[in-house]
Amino acid sequence: MNTRVVRAACPHDCPDTCAMLVTVNDGVATEIRGDPDHPNTAGVLCTKVSRYLERTYHPDRLLHPMKRIGPKGSGQFAPISWNEALDTIAARLKDVATRDPRAILPYSYAGTMGAVQGESMAMRFFNRLGASRLDRTICSSAGGTGIRYTLGAKMGTDTEQFAHAKLILIWGGNPIASNLHFWMRVQEARRNGAMLVAIDPYRSLTAEKCQHHIAPLPGTDAALALGLMHLLVRDDLLDHDYVDRYTLGFEPLRERVADWTPEKTAAVCGIDAERIEWLARLYGETALRGEPVAIRVNYGLQRARGGGMAVRNVACLPALVGAWRHAAGGVLLSSGDNFPKRPDRLERPDLFRPDPVRPSRTINMSTIGDDLLRTTSADFGPAVEAVIVYNANPVAVAPESAKVAKGFAREDLFTVVLEHFKTDTVDYADIVLPATTQLEHVDVHATYGHQYIVANNQAIAPLGEAKPNSEIFRLLAQRMGFDEPAFADSDEDLAAQAFEAGHPHALHYDWETVKAKGWYKLDIAAAPFAQGGFPTPSGKCEFYSERMLKDGLDPLPAYIPPYESLASAPELASRYPLAMISPPQRNFLNTTFVNVQSLRDTEGEPHLELHVDDAAARGIADGHRVRAWNSRGEMIARARVTDRPRKGLVVALSIWWKKLASDGKNANELTHQQLTDMGRAPAFYDVLVQVEKIPDA
Ligand code: SF4
Repeated sequence: MNTRVVRAACPHDCPDTCAMLVTVNDGVATEIRGDPDHPNTAGVLCTKVSRYLERTYHPDRLLHPMKRIGPKGSGQFAPISWNEALDTIAARLKDVATRDPRAILPYSYAGTMGAVQGESMAMRFFNRLGASRLDRTICSSAGGTGIRYTLGAKMGTDTEQFAHAKLILIWGGNPIASNLHFWMRVQEARRNGAMLVAIDPYRSLTAEKCQHHIAPLPGTDAALALGLMHLLVRDDLLDHDYVDRYTLGFEPLRERVADWTPEKTAAVCGIDAERIEWLARLYGETALRGEPVAIRVNYGLQRARGGGMAVRNVACLPALVGAWRHAAGGVLLSSGDNFPKRPDRLERPDLFRPDPVRPSRTINMSTIGDDLLRTTSADFGPAVEAVIVYNANPVAVAPESAKVAKGFAREDLFTVVLEHFKTDTVDYADIVLPATTQLEHVDVHATYGHQYIVANNQAIAPLGEAKPNSEIFRLLAQRMGFDEPAFADSDEDLAAQAFEAGHPHALHYDWETVKAKGWYKLDIAAAPFAQGGFPTPSGKCEFYSERMLKDGLDPLPAYIPPYESLASAPELASRYPLAMISPPQRNFLNTTFVNVQSLRDTEGEPHLELHVDDAAARGIADGHRVRAWNSRGEMIARARVTDRPRKGLVVALSIWWKKLASDGKNANELTHQQLTDMGRAPAFYDVLVQVEKIPDA
């Protein structure tokens, strides 16, 4: 038997980007495990990716190109050859492009986080074509924008350093479900005596395991951070030297937070004033004792109208108490901007040919529901006539799902989907192209949770007729007659171009060495902002941001109430009195893995978790079938009655495939397309609903 072990990278939308070892026997992958030598992975994969072989060799894998033979949405297809598929697509795209290439839209996100199978050859293709640009906002752009205004970049505390913190605030995230290796560091810290505080309206698996849990109303985290700043100032729990040297705008900040008394904060956030006082004292006093205090802020709190500002406000806290002086202090939202990425080389924006008559047009992926239904107009430009979907499943994931499905159901829309499985979006495709999984292609990965570039070597041959995304776009480029040398680059060439070797963060990086070793840790100082050096225009942590002012935003930390809440929309709340959030299921990753039977068996069926008081008021008991609805739609689920959501909150753990739910719907039937204060992102957790018991089907 020919056995080898291949170094690979987990491709999924998860901050941990694990280094994996894949055992291959005679061309068949037989074992997958976390690399014990990779410091962040430490030999551990999460339950989901431990089942990656079940997913790779799943009997439902798409292995051949297909064309639609039934109505849109019905998922009826017949196999065709690659030649027929590519010829059909090229003919249709040429036809549309002759009228206006902006009527063609790529739609992609983080189905793989790889630099090669993500936006490399694909973007070369769309740039050359002159297609509409896609504003990729669906997950993280609100918080990312907020932290960039404040700290200058998506950078912060090294995950590995959290093990040495004495106080950790886990704010707006559930790392046991979606950032497991960070949680392993937190466990180390706890064994070393650290105090853990979770801030989340829902007592998640993580919150349950922290010593303390504070549950603000959804969408009020910005107010809580303002209240904490008020108390740090009022009680002089400040590192004056750090504030003087390394921050900008302390005086206007002091004025701004003056009226955020504990009482006002408590009223906005729906928590006790004493609890806010306690947290501010704990945070400020621990820091002033010289002990490291660290905040892991995550994406949950930025999925509300004021989500960008909420992350910005939280990001101001470490500078006030001088937490950045310690390697284990500060705040981490994302480590993504540490990586010396080269999108200019990978995506080749220079291939785009400007057209003075038809200026480039950008469509926000978060408003795809509305945008697929728009007709041609002077404001919008041409109606969308063709969509190429890869690394994404918008029919299940994008907000206000009924509109998204209606858009994809348009008979005059030509839809191509590159996929592994017959997802909800595939059901609407005209042409389906089978894509390879991570074991079947080459890639290289940055991450947003740690500081390692991780290589993915190809472990097995593509299954069936599947092809890598990169190869599919190469072949399409040939069919379109694009003969630029950029379309001849191999995947190895692309991987080698992904990062800038010799950059101060990647001094000794080179692709060949990383391929063999598996990873490269970036060259970044342990306490990057101990002496300021923030990558903002001022070089300081900017409490006051001139850039925000220029961008039409409040330049100081502020509170922006949710679109939908009892306080901000009382009339709406009289009809739909319960707030709804839809954070990740532990065994799913967005919509990936929902069709892996062993994982779906663990999750059972779609649930809606209600507080005991809210359930009692509606005559709902645990296990009852319930309907949640608002003006946008409805979904049916099984009730889980607990005291884990705060009163007034329902939790729909997500993201279920619609077609695997009894009613063919998921929580995105209830979400809306209004955007966050900054970053143009969806406010997925800023939603009001009503819930009632319904008879068993
Ligand atoms: S999903 Fe996250 S935790 Fe799981 S293996 Fe991938 S990177 Fe690691």
